Amino acid sequence: PSLAKLIIFTFTVSSGGLVAYSDSKAYSGINDAVPSDTGTKKKKVLVLGTGWAGTSFLKNVDSSLYDVQVISPRNYFAFTPLLPSVTCGTVEARSIVEPIRNIIRKKSGDIKYWEAECIKIDAKNKKVHCRSNQDVNSEAKEEFLVDYDYLVIAMGARANTFNTPGVEEHCHFLKEVEDAQNIRRSVIDCFERASLPTLSEEERMRNLHFVVVGGGPTGVEFAAELHDFIREDLVKLYPIIQDQVKITLLEAGDHILNMFDKRITAFAEDKFQRDGIDLKLGSMVVKVTDNTISTKERSGDISSVPYGMVVWSTGIGTRPVVMDFMRQIGQTSRRVLATDEWLRVDGCDNIYALGDCATINQRKVMEDISVIFNKADKDHSGTLTVKEFQDVIDDICERYPQVELYLKNNQMKNLVDLLKDSKGNNEKESIEVDIEGFKSSLSQVDSQMKNLPATAQVAAQQGSYLARCFNRMDECEENPEGPLRFRGMGRHRFHPFRYKHLGQFAPLGGEQTAAQLPGDWVSIGRSSQWLWYSVYASKLVSWRTRVLVISDWTRRFVFGRDSSRI
Ligand code: FAD
Repeated sequence: PSLAKLIIFTFTVSSGGLVAYSDSKAYSGINDAVPSDTGTKKKKVLVLGTGWAGTSFLKNVDSSLYDVQVISPRNYFAFTPLLPSVTCGTVEARSIVEPIRNIIRKKSGDIKYWEAECIKIDAKNKKVHCRSNQDVNSEAKEEFLVDYDYLVIAMGARANTFNTPGVEEHCHFLKEVEDAQNIRRSVIDCFERASLPTLSEEERMRNLHFVVVGGGPTGVEFAAELHDFIREDLVKLYPIIQDQVKITLLEAGDHILNMFDKRITAFAEDKFQRDGIDLKLGSMVVKVTDNTISTKERSGDISSVPYGMVVWSTGIGTRPVVMDFMRQIGQTSRRVLATDEWLRVDGCDNIYALGDCATINQRKVMEDISVIFNKADKDHSGTLTVKEFQDVIDDICERYPQVELYLKNNQMKNLVDLLKDSKGNNEKESIEVDIEGFKSSLSQVDSQMKNLPATAQVAAQQGSYLARCFNRMDECEENPEGPLRFRGMGRHRFHPFRYKHLGQFAPLGGEQTAAQLPGDWVSIGRSSQWLWYSVYASKLVSWRTRVLVISDWTRRFVFGRDSSRI
């Protein structure tokens, strides 16, 4: 018997392959990359970047299976969550970095590292154009080609200025270790300049005005660090000018830390007010000159204030080399590289992208779900067996965690069980599925779907996921473990990437931190500060950096922060 119309889901690299050439403009006429010098038949894996994603991949990949080569202009891994602490000398820059050669030395296979930046990806010929960081000869930086079988793009992102005039020239960014070191020097410069006897009162006030643009976690943490540095250390050294120091935090939105729980946002805003940090919400920066910063308020008024130093922290943008690659592969309309759930760049064979430079293409969800359903519903009658229906739901849930979450949140996770129960547990029983209704209700999930956040957590998990896939490439070719392929025969080789959120911290200064842990568990205060110390100490990449950071924290407790301008 035909069942009642059912279920409208209201889901609301090898060491070889290297050719040097010195004329940076002359790409035409370059010799082909020479073959691998190892003489092995191992596939070549080329990794671009030594940040969270690239390093996590390198640490986990079985380098005896591949010829692995790494290219990055930075010969170290930097523990970015502690960068704000470097800006005020709470920890030293060298304590949060680990040489990449130390990391790869510990691997069984032979991983090659080249200190260079990728300047062009030639996907058609499976080659990458690189420029060395070093001046090998006096005329130009050495350039070379590297070929690959698999390319792992993990080049991160750059600071986003939204093309605001003057930002590039006059503001500090807080993205790299050098940025943090420059900020540290600049803060001391402002205090030393403001102490000069020749300075007018007006100029003194200007030099002591510190502006932070962006109320996200980085901007908030920096403002809190700076406030602590000034109140705990600098006021003792510059007692005369202490009352003239001002910190302003500019945020274009209605609240700071808007990706956190509302309780954390409210606590942080209150605390900043109590600390005397001037929080200006709804203030959008429209221009920066060498000594003033102009903002547009909600009323439409434009006001300009003098400043001594500005730190710009308003999010991330795409690197030019990634943008150029996106143009080549027809992804011009996108903000970052689009990949599928297996982290493969859309439309490219054997190219993977992870971390801040990529995002999993969520817009395909509707298209994929249509394909999945139509394929299951072979005769297009809108009738499936309970078993087929179960497979479709499993497949959709495996590929789209948001859909699974939606089902769970709406108490529909046991839908198929309910269905079986109502049909006396008969999996072969046919049911009618309102496919069109299902799809139209899914469009609501589609509109609620958010991209994964650009965080170290996501990047590191993607790096280790991809390494595990590479390690089991042959094994899973024979015994695929992934969901059914609805666009082809058999199963996908691997399970798709699933992000596991482990919680997030927002240090607010004065030994107080807000922690938002899975299950929306919120904790704010000194206890969370100790949790923050323990988690970050444990997450540091090596025992060396762990010891250095813990000794920096101890030094700060005992002697305070160092204010020398070196
Ligand atoms: P990155 O770590 O930026 O690495 C990119 C790599 O690519 C670098 O090695 C770079 O040198 C290399 N590269 C760049 N250009 C080229 C090129 N042309 N060719 C080859 N290589 C290239 N996330 C959290 O989860 N928790 C936090 O507390 C946190 N705090 C943060 C604090 C600050 C101040 C900042 C800036 C970020 C913070 N983040 C945090 C975000 C986190 O750092 C990023 O999401 C993470 O670094 C992304 O990793 P990635 O590997 O994609 O990029």
